[in-house]
Amino acid sequence: MLDLEEAQKRILAVIQPLGSEAVPLQAAVGRILAARIPAPLDLPPFDNSAMDGYAVRAADVAEAGPRKPVSLRQIGTVTAGAFFQGTVEPGTCVRIFTGSPMPAGADAVVMQEDTRVNPAHPKEVDFLDKVDPWENVRLKGEDVKKGTVLGEAGEILGVGKVSLLASSGLTEVLAGRRPVVGLLATGSELREGGQTLAPGQIYESNRVALAALLDRLGAVPRSFPLVKDTLHDTRSALETAFAECDAVVSSGGVSVGEWDFVKKAFQEMGGELDFWKVAIKPGKPFVFGRWRDKFLFGLPGNPVSAMVTFLLLVRPAILRFQGARHLALPAHPGVLIAPIVNVGDRRHFVRVTVNGRAEVRLSGVQASHILSSLAEANGLVDVPAQTTLPAGSPIQVLRWE
Ligand code: AMP
Ligand code: MG
Repeated sequence: MLDLEEAQKRILAVIQPLGSEAVPLQAAVGRILAARIPAPLDLPPFDNSAMDGYAVRAADVAEAGPRKPVSLRQIGTVTAGAFFQGTVEPGTCVRIFTGSPMPAGADAVVMQEDTRVNPAHPKEVDFLDKVDPWENVRLKGEDVKKGTVLGEAGEILGVGKVSLLASSGLTEVLAGRRPVVGLLATGSELREGGQTLAPGQIYESNRVALAALLDRLGAVPRSFPLVKDTLHDTRSALETAFAECDAVVSSGGVSVGEWDFVKKAFQEMGGELDFWKVAIKPGKPFVFGRWRDKFLFGLPGNPVSAMVTFLLLVRPAILRFQGARHLALPAHPGVLIAPIVNVGDRRHFVRVTVNGRAEVRLSGVQASHILSSLAEANGLVDVPAQTTLPAGSPIQVLRWE
């Protein structure tokens, strides 16, 4: 039986990025950059006004105040998107708006609220306050300098980053290819939602949960029909899925029972098993294997175990396929508000609820068939074997949403 870190290492040792493709910016959030992006231009691209007001030479209004206005002659207007051809000479100003390029000669903007225009002399503007040089001016390149790195290979693109790339004029990025991941649910007791349950049957729930997790991780999930617990059905389902996908995630049929056929069917079709037990709870039976250049992740069928093993062992691989740099589940600090006890001899990833104050408590009963505590959970806490974490303990919460 492998410990978790060893199992993760064995998986990542054989999984390589699938290559890259051009992705339009509109579809790039959540994708993983495959190459460094140098800034193609300065941002802002030119000195421009941060206010609606007047572009001036700061020295001209150095003596201005509410009771001793300074009057300057307005020699033009520059709206956003326009460009003022002339120069602001001493004694003059130019009407300007937020985002308008600074006219030559001007070195500051006085906001409109600090000025007054006499309708009888609309070209004579009174300034009621002074400005420092470059006040209310957004300087070329002060946000981003041309050539600085906007994004690194392996980085997951967020909304803010995509906005920055769009501001830089980019229309697409090079991103890691999304793996197509087949989902198989094995178990003769399983029925599709909407069907009538005969005695002994239950509704299948792993494919929809795993598809959602895969989708959020950037993979392309592909669900296949339910698989009966026979060697023949399991093998033909695996063969179909492997023919169409980069990797296959199955659930169920990996324990020690006579009706657990995943390992055997996989080996019969020529797959090589790497390992099939990991020392964690929930989820001890977990199969990892290779078929040609593709991979099988055989999760336990129990929905709680399937989700936990997916997060700990499959998620990093899905990210690696796309070239991601950070593969571990994000860990957030929190504080336990009630003790957590693990009397067992395997480390237990317990389902917890974290509130906005980072207070952490169990989300409910932790038996591996209890789904309501999974539904309430928004994190996992790694509790070492035979350990009690007392109330007040600072802990790390692993989160997936
Ligand atoms: P197995 O790993 O096949 O031994 O299944 C363990 C438990 O999980 C059994 O109680 C199964 O009925 C249940 N189970 C297996 N697969 C699923 C599934 N896809 N959806 C819901 N429950 C499942
Ligand atoms: Mg089963």
